[in-house]
Parts: sequence; C-alpha cells; structure tokens
Amino acid sequence: MIIVLKPDAPPEAAKELLARIEEKGLTPLHMPGSERVVLGALGDERVLAELRLESNPHVESVKPILAPYKLVSRELRPEDSVVRIGKVGVGGESFAVIAGPDAIEDAESLRETAEAVKAAGASVLRGGAFRPRMSPYAFEGLGEEGLDILVQTGAALGMPVLTEALSEAQLDRIVAAEDAVQIGARNMSNFPLLKAAAASGAAIVLKRGLSATVEELLLAAEYLLHEGNDRVILVERGVRTFETNAPAMLDLTAVPFIKRRSHLPVLVDPSNGTGRRELVAPMTLAAAACGADGVLIDVHPDPAAARAGGAQALDHEGFRRLMRQLEPVAQAVGRSLA
Ligand code: PEP
Ligand code: MN
Repeated sequence: MIIVLKPDAPPEAAKELLARIEEKGLTPLHMPGSERVVLGALGDERVLAELRLESNPHVESVKPILAPYKLVSRELRPEDSVVRIGKVGVGGESFAVIAGPDAIEDAESLRETAEAVKAAGASVLRGGAFRPRMSPYAFEGLGEEGLDILVQTGAALGMPVLTEALSEAQLDRIVAAEDAVQIGARNMSNFPLLKAAAASGAAIVLKRGLSATVEELLLAAEYLLHEGNDRVILVERGVRTFETNAPAMLDLTAVPFIKRRSHLPVLVDPSNGTGRRELVAPMTLAAAACGADGVLIDVHPDPAAARAGGAQALDHEGFRRLMRQLEPVAQAVGRSLA
C-alpha cells in the first residue's frame, strides 16, 4: 500500500503512522521525497482497513501497489535512483559507459584496453575473472589472478571496476576488493547468491536471465531490495528466441517498459545481447535513444585473437568510433557521457 501524506503533514504524523503500520504486522517504509512524504506498507494489506487511513487528516491518498514487485516499483519511489559504482553514478542525467574485455587474459592487454576505453570516455572498467561457460572446454577466466589484475589496473587508472561472481565465495572475494559485483544472466534466479549479494552491501549489476521475463527480472531485483540493498542496476542483455540471426535477441522494449515501472537504473549490454560485433554500435545508439542509463561493451585489443567473446567485441578503434557517434545521440535525449 502507498500512503501519500499531505505537503504540510508534520514529521510526527509520519512517525505515528509508521508505528501503527508496524503494529499491524506489516513492513513500514518511509520515503521522504522532494515535495511530500510517501509511506509504504508491505504485507497483507487487508489489515490496514482498521487504521482508517483515508480519514486521517494528514493523509492525501492511499492506493494499493498493483504490481507483484513493490520495492523496485516507481509507484513506491517516483524519482529515479542513482546507484554508485565507486565514484561513478549510474542513473540520472549521465549515460554510463562500462567497457573492457569479456575475459581478462593478462595484465598487459587489460592495461592497454583500459587506457583506450578510458581515453575514449568509458567510466567503469569491466572484465571477467570468473566466467560462466556453456562448455567445460572453454576458457573459464584467470580466476583470482584475473581479479587481482583487474583491481590493480582499475586502481592505477582511477577507474571503478565491474566483474561477475558465480558463487558466494567469489562474491566475498570481489566485494572485499571492490564496491560492485555483477550477477550474470545464468544466475539471475540463483536466490541464495542474490541474498548473499544483497547482504554484502555492494552495488549489484543484475542481468536478465536468458529466458526470463521482465517481470521475473524485476522480482529478482525485488529480492535484493527486500534483503535491504537498494544499490541495484538492471541489465537488458538479450533473450533466447526462435531467431537464429544472432545468439540472442536484444529486447530494447524492456528499457522504456522498465523505466516506467521501476526507479532502478537500466543498462543495455549490446555485446552479450547480440553476440555479433556488427550489431554492437547500432544497438548502443538505440539503447541511448530509448532511455537506457548506460551500456556494457566488450572491447579487446585484437578480437580475432580473444580467448573469449571475440565475435562480440569491438577493437580499440571501433570503440573510439562508437563513442564519437554516441555523444550527439546521448545529448539529443538529454544525457551527458559521464
Ligand atoms: C558477461 O558480461 O561477460 C556475461 C557473461 O554476461 P551474461 O551473464 O549476460 O551472459
Ligand atoms: Mn561476456
């Protein structure tokens, strides 16, 4: 239930209502906005009838939250959330570009790519250390060594970093070193991992599952907020369909759809989301145009020689070219590349 207070409602009125909501066994939420205070009550809403909220002199309106997800909903929090990855704010007016190799291969090539993407305007460095692979014969990443290389490279260049955790042990190791973690498409519904990620307090970049609906993505995010962590960034990364043109079909409709219903920032991953290099630049521009808060892009010094993800990676020059094309598109929709 959402309870909007009148603009002149005194703070004591909010306090008293929150206490009464709690007495009824519901979870009370206090959301002071720039214009008025909104209260929430999560749980069995029927018991709220006894509180006669409609006739309270400080209450302007009372309405149920119709969506199955509550804490992530815009009904509950009308303003856009801005989630920090290190010093970089994702959401709001800036358009975040997170770039780097699919898999970290060695310190030298990561450094080269990090310098190139930073110079071209990327603000966060991505790179896989622990990598989910569909085949046991594929490169699973450098593991701990890769994480160390990523952390050192990010620190040397003053860039926050982003990498994926496949297990709770990896999660602990990543959040001990950095303030953000990626939960990949294959783990979107790994609820123990989601709970552990929420408990870590780190910013969580949560990818849509390969066959997950948007509602399921929002409910997975709801887990994180329900566990007390609202530092959540959603990622549209393409889904499996009947189409064989590309390994995934990037669902850009998800972006404006989610932005209307949720306050959380939404990124697009046009690399994993298409699996094809030639589609990365046009889908990045489209992502900016349709209201995404940023992109995740695979970049490699020599994609043809990459140990993973080469088919979907841009080389350094391709990334620079894309960034030049992106600037006017971002500007046209009121975003700056930060
Ligand atoms: C990745 O970002 O490298 C990755 C594995 O992504 P996804 O979970 O979307 O497949
Ligand atoms: Mn990848």
